[in-house]
Amino acid sequence: MLLEDDIRALSTAVSGIVAVPDSPEFAEETFAFNAATVHRPEVVLGAADAQDVAAGVKWAAERSLPVSVQSTGHGAESAVDGGLLITTRRLQDVHIDPVERTARVGAGVKWRSVLEASVPHGLIGLHGSSTDVGVVGYTVGGGLPVLGRVHGFAADHVRSMEVVTADGALRRIDAETEAELFSLMRGGKGNLGIVTALEFSLFPLGEFYGGGIMYPGADAAAILTAFREWLPTLPDDASPSISLLRLPDLDFVPPPLRGQFVVHLRFAFLGNKEDGDALLAPMRAVSTPLMDTAGPMSYLDVDQIHMDPADPLPFQDAGALLTDFGEDAVAELLRLAGDGTDCPLLLIEIRPLGGALSRGGIVPDAVSGRDAAFLLFLLGFRLPPVAAAVSESIRAILAAMAPYSTGYTLVNFHGEPGDEADRARAWSPAVYQRMRAAKSSYDPGNLLRFGHAITGAPAAG
Ligand SMILES: Cc1cc2nc3c(=O)[nH]c(=O)nc-3n(C[C@H](O)[C@H](O)[C@H](O)COP(=O)(O)OP(=O)(O)OC[C@H]3O[C@@H](n4cnc5c(N)ncnc54)[C@H](O)[C@@H]3O)c2cc1C
Repeated sequence: MLLEDDIRALSTAVSGIVAVPDSPEFAEETFAFNAATVHRPEVVLGAADAQDVAAGVKWAAERSLPVSVQSTGHGAESAVDGGLLITTRRLQDVHIDPVERTARVGAGVKWRSVLEASVPHGLIGLHGSSTDVGVVGYTVGGGLPVLGRVHGFAADHVRSMEVVTADGALRRIDAETEAELFSLMRGGKGNLGIVTALEFSLFPLGEFYGGGIMYPGADAAAILTAFREWLPTLPDDASPSISLLRLPDLDFVPPPLRGQFVVHLRFAFLGNKEDGDALLAPMRAVSTPLMDTAGPMSYLDVDQIHMDPADPLPFQDAGALLTDFGEDAVAELLRLAGDGTDCPLLLIEIRPLGGALSRGGIVPDAVSGRDAAFLLFLLGFRLPPVAAAVSESIRAILAAMAPYSTGYTLVNFHGEPGDEADRARAWSPAVYQRMRAAKSSYDPGNLLRFGHAITGAPAAG
């Protein structure tokens, strides 16, 4: 148990906010975007800078206290219980180098801030479906971008990191300096250290075409079949995905779609209107759209492609990597979640992988699943009265899709981490073994053990 002297020692060592459960700042400081997750650390440190992160970890290490980290709480799949929670949202530096085509950001920066600074230079970073997500949490989880088939995973393009390891040391790592740590921190999630800043490549933005088409859910079978047949005809610079949405009657849903079961095709393409329209033509013909927003788009409107919720929600989710999404898999999915079923999930998403996602970066990283053809992702509300039905539906759909899955997941889409064997499924066995070995040397006391945490390898002999 922490004594007043311990808390005083932490407050003296840092310049940021220190709050305990009965402090007025505690609830706001620990709040997560996933509002179902209520963190209960013994103490929270709202770090003002990288030195605060290092001082906080050192303070915790001296007391053998576990340490967790949160930026936005988009990835708060499980609640922190005890120990020190370090929040990074005040680390807001964004520096764009338009000549080198790089960005350097602090650990609290969201993707929206990167784009607002980079798009005026004609450059973009490899963000995902929502630019409200934190750059660092997303990237250490691999980072599956909207334009992933063109450029690969975000982790493939990290140049350097500043990271505090479990001993409280602040290190700058890259392909030459602490190469194994650098390799495993890109895709290994927060297992080996707390990132305070990240430097990564940006990519030129030419003409951009994007948006979404909403179709009636009653046509789901025809649309998913057409989607499957359409995919091989697309170039890598076109990135589509598709989802079955049971839209709630809530403000973030456009009024005509509230309460509806729809199929949502999302489309992002680095090209002009003529080519974009030509690529989308077969999918526009397959059913009568309820809404069609696809066309030339300002890149700063990129969130309109996926239309992810912008406000915090209580949710549970899970994912699986698929080898194929053939006729049988489509039929099986629709049997459990198609029109006329009582599937309680808000979102069932299929993201095609392939292209640059399957190739990997110049400097190898820990991202696994490059052999998979699709990502299946399931999400529903985690609140009464639907929470139990949502859990059961996720379980049933994953079981039904097991014959078409690789058995592995992507760590950013894994959902609530289960036991060690379940956590290991986010990496190939070889990468997982390397991570366990690195965990033993960089975090022998297993201080960083919240979230999608793994344990170190047992000592030899
Ligand atoms: C609406 C929505 C859309 C999404 N879209 C995509 C997508 O398109 N592609 C994709 O790949 N993922 C996507 N995700 C998943 C998202 O990338 C992960 O949940 C990611 O962990 C969020 O990072 P965060 O920092 O915003 O969240 P947080 O909850 O603050 O952090 C989550 C975890 O990231 C790690 N982490 C955070 N900060 C640090 C740090 N400074 N150092 C070390 N580890 C850290 C920790 O393990 C932490 O528990 C989406 C999630 C949501 C809710």
